[in-house]
Amino acid sequence: MAIYPKLIEEALSKVRYPGTGKDLVSAGMVEDDIRIDGNKVSFSLLFEKPNDPFIKSVVKAAETAILTYVGPEVEIKGNIRAVSKQAPRPEPDKLLPQVKHIIAVSSGKGGVGKSTVAANLAVALAGLGYQVGLLDADIFGPSQPKMFRVEEARPTMVEVGGRELIEPAENYGVKLLSIGFFVNKEDAVLWRGAMASNALKQLIADANWGELDYFLIDLPPGTSDIHLTMVQTLAITGAVVVTTPQEVALADARKGISMFQSDKINVPVLGLIENMAWFTPAELPQNKYYLFGKEGGKRLAEELQVPLLGQIPIVQSICEGGDNGAPVALNPDSITGQAFRSLAEAVTLQIQKREEELPPTARVQIKG
Ligand code: ADP
Repeated sequence: MAIYPKLIEEALSKVRYPGTGKDLVSAGMVEDDIRIDGNKVSFSLLFEKPNDPFIKSVVKAAETAILTYVGPEVEIKGNIRAVSKQAPRPEPDKLLPQVKHIIAVSSGKGGVGKSTVAANLAVALAGLGYQVGLLDADIFGPSQPKMFRVEEARPTMVEVGGRELIEPAENYGVKLLSIGFFVNKEDAVLWRGAMASNALKQLIADANWGELDYFLIDLPPGTSDIHLTMVQTLAITGAVVVTTPQEVALADARKGISMFQSDKINVPVLGLIENMAWFTPAELPQNKYYLFGKEGGKRLAEELQVPLLGQIPIVQSICEGGDNGAPVALNPDSITGQAFRSLAEAVTLQIQKREEELPPTARVQIKG
């Protein structure tokens, strides 16, 4: 049978919103974006608040009503978007108006290769022709100056439009500022709380980042007040979570993902990156040894229904590239370079997809 928007609306008029007792149509919650593609139906439901307690149950009831009144063949599951007018995050143009996309690079625990992935992702994005900036916000171990071989750089001040701004260092086509430029390594760990948050805010707001396609933030591992500061300061496009396939790392990655998805933080998770997915000796590139277990990251991504953006093998050159200040992504023809290039492509694709999904009005999608 043919499916019409009117039929969908009729079905939705049978569902009541518990908050007011009105049906979804009279309550004005059904957005004007009903799309019908064969049997596939998708549309948005508008909620006042992004943390409305009835979101899940209303979406479920709407699905059931459509299957009951329109027909069991309608593909509706997972196709109802919950949106809200109320943006809990800063408006995108508030800070860094010349930056198109802001990506938080995070991990549940330290040592999983978050900074290595951030550096190589930045270099790979630059290699794809994008303008890229990287903020090293890992106060526990700012390692980006070393990985970009700009350890000795001391950022200067420049005057832009009558303002004195910090000029980022630049190498491999990536603009870089690091908390490590401003504090001795030994003292970095003492830079917690307000001091670190304020310094980072300055590195964002008072720096000459200029026009960027992608601005990456290498966050500290785990959850901290730095995370909160960053989401309150910036309209982050999405977060990527780096993990190894090991059980202990996966448990922490899970916590990291739920932190981003919590009402307090509310940052979309672009996906999971499985680093150290297997070991490959340089002389036997076909061989894969699963040192930390096989495909743990892939399984977690499936379970939490977040995209798996890439699997990066353990290769000696990745470690050496970091130590020598020449990330492997500089060589896109190598196996490792290819892995990071695919990762960069997957990240850009994911961002593109999300932007297409969002209605043109600046509404915020809620995780149902
Ligand atoms: P984190 O930022 O999560 O603490 P790092 O990026 O500092 O982790 O990585 C920890 C160590 O592991 C570094 O010595 C780094 O060079 C190494 N490393 C990270 N990823 C890989 C990989 N895929 N293959 C080989 N060594 C890696």
